[in-house]
Amino acid sequence: MKPKKGRLLTGDRPTGRLHLGHFVGTLRNRVRMQDEYESFFIIADLHTLTTRPERAAIEEIAENVHQLVLDYLSIGIDPQRSTIFLQSAIPETYELNLLLEMLVTVPRLERVPSLKNMASDAGLESMPFGLLGYPVLQTVDILLPRADVVPVGKDNQAHIEVAREIARRFNRLYGEIFPIPRGKIGEELVGLDGQAKMSKSLNNTIFLSDDAEVVMEKVMRMYTDPKRVRANIPGRVEGNPVFIYHDAFNPDVDEVVSLKQRYRGGQVGDVEVKQRLARALNAFLDPIRQRRATFEEQPQLVEDILRSGTERMRSEAQRTMELVRNVMGLPRLP
Ligand code: ATP
Ligand code: MG
Repeated sequence: MKPKKGRLLTGDRPTGRLHLGHFVGTLRNRVRMQDEYESFFIIADLHTLTTRPERAAIEEIAENVHQLVLDYLSIGIDPQRSTIFLQSAIPETYELNLLLEMLVTVPRLERVPSLKNMASDAGLESMPFGLLGYPVLQTVDILLPRADVVPVGKDNQAHIEVAREIARRFNRLYGEIFPIPRGKIGEELVGLDGQAKMSKSLNNTIFLSDDAEVVMEKVMRMYTDPKRVRANIPGRVEGNPVFIYHDAFNPDVDEVVSLKQRYRGGQVGDVEVKQRLARALNAFLDPIRQRRATFEEQPQLVEDILRSGTERMRSEAQRTMELVRNVMGLPRLP
C-alpha cells in the first residue's frame, strides 16, 4: 500500500438522500481521494439540531442516517478503507466544542454568510446560539481526527476558513497539534429549475437513488431556454441546465457537441435533447443503483459499518483529547 498523504474528513447532515449536486460538489472528490488519504466520513446529526431541535425532526434522523450510509456505499465509499461514523456518538465532540468556542468571536461568526440563510430558510426569527456555532462544531469534526483536507461544496468554504483560523489560534496559544485543514472545493450544480443550486429543501433534485422512470419524468419537466416555444427557434446552450447536465454526465462528447450545434441552429426539439439526457443520467446512475440494491439486501450491514466506524473514530478522538488536555495544561485530579 502506498503511504497516505494525510487525513481527510468530510460528511453530511442526515436530512435526506444524496443527489447529483452532492456528487458534483463533493462525492466524486471523496471517491477520488479515499485512496490517497486516510478518510473519515461523518454523519453530522448534531448539526441538524442547529436549525431543527424539535422531537419530530430528531425522530427522522435514524432513517436518514441509514439511507445516507447506503448512498455512501453505492457511490463507492469503501468501509474497509474508510471510516464512516455517527457524530452524536462521539462524546469528545461535545467536549472539544466547548474548548474551541473560546477561540473565536461572535462578530467573526456573524460574518459567515451561510448561517443567516440557514436561519431564514428554517423560518427562525433570530439566530440560535448553536446555529451561530455551526462552523465551530464543524471545526471540531475536522480537528478531532486531525484532518488535513476537507472536500466540500462552495457554500462550505467560509466554514473551512473559520476552521483554519481556530486551528491556527489553538496551535499558537497551546502547541502545534493540529494540521491547518485545507478545503478541496468542488463545483456547484444548478437545480432542475435552473434558478438555484440543486438542494434537498428546494425540491429541484435528482437523487442518486431515483429510479429510471423518476429520472425520465424529472428531466422531461426540466427548465430549458424559456424563449424557445418551438423546436425550430434557435436556442441558448450557455447556462441552460439541460446542457449543463449533458456536460457533467454524458460521456458521449460527440453527441453533446452535435446536440448543442443543432439546438443553436433550431434543428432539434427539447424532447430529444431531454430524452438523450435521461438516457445518459440513467447510464450513470445504473451501477450506483445496483450497488445500493446489493447492500440493501444485507440486513445488518449498515449498522455494523456504523458501529465499527464509530468505534474507530472514538479511539482517534480520545487520542486527540489527550493531546489537547496535555498541551492546554488543564488541571488533572490527583
Ligand atoms: P439543504 O437543502 O438541507 O441545505 P443540500 O442538498 O443543500 O441540503 P447540504 O447538506 O447543505 O445539502 O450539503 C452537503 C454538501 O454537499 C456540502 O459540502 C455542500 O457544499 C454540497 N452541495 C450541496 N448541494 C450542492 C450543489 N447543488 N452543488 C454542489 N455541491 C453541493
Ligand atoms: Mg445546503
